[in-house]
Amino acid sequence: MHDIMFAPPFARPAIDAARLDPQDREALIGTLGAESDWLAEIAFTFLLNSHDPHIGERAARRVREVAPNRRANTVIVAIANDPDPADAASRFLDTSDPPVRVGAAAATRMLAQAEPSRSWTGLLNRALTDNDQTVQLAAGADPASIGRESYWSCGECGHENRIDARQCGSCGEEEGFHIIMHRWNSG
Ligand SMILES: [Zn+2]
Repeated sequence: MHDIMFAPPFARPAIDAARLDPQDREALIGTLGAESDWLAEIAFTFLLNSHDPHIGERAARRVREVAPNRRANTVIVAIANDPDPADAASRFLDTSDPPVRVGAAAATRMLAQAEPSRSWTGLLNRALTDNDQTVQLAAGADPASIGRESYWSCGECGHENRIDARQCGSCGEEEGFHIIMHRWNSG
């Protein structure tokens, strides 16, 4: 399965980060790394469009602490809340950790769709030519035209797998790519 799903924000809850006290904000940032998919997804949805640089900064610091399968979404929150999202995406695309680059690629694609007037071409091209096939897919590459010289990284554990491997050599997860992303609202 090679899909990014852009889901509409459900029911548009009053997302107003200014009404959260610092402790609650911190709790939500911690929940980005929750073991429960459901809980982590709620925190992600809530924090994605909060337009709060403080949240961006805290999420950026959490990236290394959360499990590999929570890293991409934590990076997306960090980028979406950064005062300069393109600069943040560029920094994350430079890292050697595959799930971090997957998040940066997905965020770049999301931002490019939300703000088509701005030129995202350079950043998108970097993600589309990453050595990791999973990063290319997150950036919107057509699975049919992807180069076979690259590797794929596991969404569960971040392990880099040979391109002909169908299962992750580290955790056994089947090859696949699935990010559920909510639309970014440039606010
Ligand atoms: Zn794995």
